Amino acid sequence: MSIQVNNITKLYGNQKALNNISFEVGSNEIVGFLGPNGAGKSTMMKILTCYIPPSEGTAKVCGFDINTQSIEVRKQIGYLPEHNPLYLDMYVKEFLEFVGGIYKIKNIKSRVKDMIEMTGLQIEQNKKIGALSKGYRQRVGLAQAIIHDPKVLIMDEPTTGLDPNQLEEIRGLIKALGKEKTVMLSTHIMQEVEAICDRVIIINKGEIVANDETKNLQKNTTKQIITVEFDKEVSEKLIQKINNIDGVKFLQGNTWLLSSTSKDDVRKDIFNFAVANNLSVLTLNKEEQKMEDVFKELTKK
Ligand code: ADP
Repeated sequence: MSIQVNNITKLYGNQKALNNISFEVGSNEIVGFLGPNGAGKSTMMKILTCYIPPSEGTAKVCGFDINTQSIEVRKQIGYLPEHNPLYLDMYVKEFLEFVGGIYKIKNIKSRVKDMIEMTGLQIEQNKKIGALSKGYRQRVGLAQAIIHDPKVLIMDEPTTGLDPNQLEEIRGLIKALGKEKTVMLSTHIMQEVEAICDRVIIINKGEIVANDETKNLQKNTTKQIITVEFDKEVSEKLIQKINNIDGVKFLQGNTWLLSSTSKDDVRKDIFNFAVANNLSVLTLNKEEQKMEDVFKELTKK
C-alpha cells in the first residue's frame, strides 16, 4: 500500500473537518478524492503531506508514519497544493533549480531539463513564471512536485481554472504520471474522475460516503429513468407489477415516470407488460442517470 489512512479526525476549534476517516491507496493507482467545497479534501491532503497534524488517528505513506516520520514521508511525496503557489518573479528554470536545490538533487541542471521536457515547458522555459498562462503555471507546479522523483503524487484541485485545452493537456500529463506513481488528486468535478481516475473516494462533510473503482461506481449506480405513455388509464397498483421496476411516479394523463436499477434494459419489461395487459405504448423515453447525479445524491445530505 502506498497510502494507508487510519481513523483520522481533524478539528479546527470546535469544527470537525474530518470525522474518523480511513482508506487505502495502492501503488500506481490514480485515486480521485471527490467532494463538494468544504468537504475536507484539502484538509486530508495537508495531513498526508505533513503540512498540518491530525487531531486523532494516523496515516502511513510508503510505510512511513506521518506523526513520527514526517521527513521521510515528505521525501516520498510530491505535492501540488490548491492555487499552486509559485514565485512569480522567478524564471521557470531558476525556480525549478531552486526547488531541486532544496531537495539536494544531484545534477540539478540535467534533472531540470528532463522535468521541462516531461511537462512540456520547453517553449516557456526562459520566461518569468508571472508571464505564463494558468496552464503553463500548472505545468511548473507539476514539475516542482515531481523533480525529486517521488513515489506518491498528491494534487489539490490540479485542473481548477484551466480552459478546455489546458484541461485536456494537464489530465493527459497526470494520467501519464500515474503509470509509474501513485496519484491522489482532489476535485469537485465528476468528469475529471471519470476521465482519469481508477478509483473514487467521495467525501462529504468530513466523512467517506463512497469508495470504489470508478467503473464499479458507474455500473452500480447507473439508474434507468423511463417516461412511458400508454393509450389507456392504468392503475398505480398494476404499473408496480412491471418486472424490474423500483420506482413509479404518476406524471399526467396516462404518462408515468418509472425508474430501475436493473442492469438489463427494462423497456422490454414495459413492452411485455403492455402486451399482457392489452395496452399500447404511445411514447417511451429512456435516460441513464449520470455519475454526476450519483455524486449529487451522495453529497446532498
Ligand atoms: P475542501 O478542500 O473539501 O473544500 P477543506 O478541507 O478546505 O475542504 O475544509 C473543510 C472544512 O474545514 C471547511 O468547513 C473549512 O471552512 C474548514 N477549514 C479548513 N481549513 C481551516 C482552518 N485553517 N481553520 C478553520 N477552519 C478551516
